[in-house]
Amino acid sequence: MSAIGDTDRRHLWHPFTQMADWDKADPLVITHGKGCELYDEHGNAYLDGSSSIWVNLHGHRKGAIDRAIKRQLGQVAHTTFLGLTNPPAALLAERLVRLAPPGLSRVFYSDNGSTAVEIALKMAFQYWRQRRVDPRPQKRRFMHFNHAYHGDTVGAVSVGGIDLFHATFRDLLFPSERVEFPYCYRCPFGKSYPACASACLEPVERALAEKGPEIAAFVVEPLVQGASGILTMPDGFLKSVRELCSRHDVLMIADEVATGFGRTGTLFACEQEGVAPDVMCLSKGITGGYLPLAATLATDEIYQAFLGRYEEFRTFFHGHSYTGNPLGCAAALANLDVFENEDVLARVQPRIRHLWRSLNDELGDHPHVGEIRGRGLMVGIELVADRDRRTPYPLEAQVGNRIGRKIRERGILIRPIGGVVVLMPPLAMTRPQLTRLVRGTRWAIDQVLAGA
Ligand SMILES: *Cc1c(COP(=O)(O)O)cnc(C)c1O
Repeated sequence: MSAIGDTDRRHLWHPFTQMADWDKADPLVITHGKGCELYDEHGNAYLDGSSSIWVNLHGHRKGAIDRAIKRQLGQVAHTTFLGLTNPPAALLAERLVRLAPPGLSRVFYSDNGSTAVEIALKMAFQYWRQRRVDPRPQKRRFMHFNHAYHGDTVGAVSVGGIDLFHATFRDLLFPSERVEFPYCYRCPFGKSYPACASACLEPVERALAEKGPEIAAFVVEPLVQGASGILTMPDGFLKSVRELCSRHDVLMIADEVATGFGRTGTLFACEQEGVAPDVMCLSKGITGGYLPLAATLATDEIYQAFLGRYEEFRTFFHGHSYTGNPLGCAAALANLDVFENEDVLARVQPRIRHLWRSLNDELGDHPHVGEIRGRGLMVGIELVADRDRRTPYPLEAQVGNRIGRKIRERGILIRPIGGVVVLMPPLAMTRPQLTRLVRGTRWAIDQVLAGA
């Protein structure tokens, strides 16, 4: 084993990883990258099929972003945001507000998706307590969907809906209201689309009508629930949820941490249904996958409720050591420049079409593929032991994990979730690379399932 691999095994503890299994194989040590490829310490190349866990957009060592970070490094790496400001942070806020859905006019920075969500929850909570007209301090709970994922800090886990991740911490969490999510392939109402006529909206409406007076905000992953296996909303569902929130006086928090920055084919997923949330959480792709940065955007209505004389203590009491980090903000500005200068959103459309065509050609009739779903460059391939009965593979079989390991032999890196193979290529992945990704995926699925 390599020296780095050995050092890792002696000292490190990896996220979402059974470390007893980690110790069984040599760790893959990535030393550098270029474009959509990563290289290990022996010089082997791997296609980055997970965008380094959903963050990378334009490939690695993108010239424009590299240069922007170096330029900022020549000025200063970090200064506090308490009592000071800095050019990249101010300019980025202006750009984000211009690009975000209408009404979002204030930007609060943090470092990762989970903190962006924590901030959104605390903002919504405090807003209802102290707004000038008709304060509603009884609105102090949150609503969320089954299968939702909003991060791993305790507040974000409290509004999460993935029992496997969340059950252990139940006694630590604040209570929140869970609403059934329209996971169409396994419809919780036993209906099928589109004959169901969106029966899945009824429980949302009922929950909001019943609990609305106690609910501060509804936290939603717009269009796609990522971490639970790329579960997609039926068309029009998001827009209806927005309307129901407004009708029942509940704030809508759009968690665009995964879907933001072109992932679903538009800059933000909310745009596809003309939805303007009250609060929006951004991270992952915000720096093009370079540095940890997050932003929570809020409406002026929310912001105004925090203004007052000092001694009223309406201040939003929240902050982090690295809030408004200039290097991260410089990377994010360069990321937005790339979107503009290279017309990324237009140029990604034929790649998206190519990816979905390849998926259908290679895997559409596969006896162990139950469903291929997603939006844009977010793909979930749900594997089933029996296609007619939609029988999932047992978690212990670890089919996803095994496929993720097998596909490395073909020089590809992906990160499946349970029995769902997830493909999340950077927006910059070329058509030949996308073809290789899909063919490699089929090969690995066949190799692993032949023995399952
Ligand atoms: C990844 C993710 C988060 C958490 O972001 P971190 O940066 O990992 O803390 C929150 N919400 C969604 C939808 C995500 O996909």
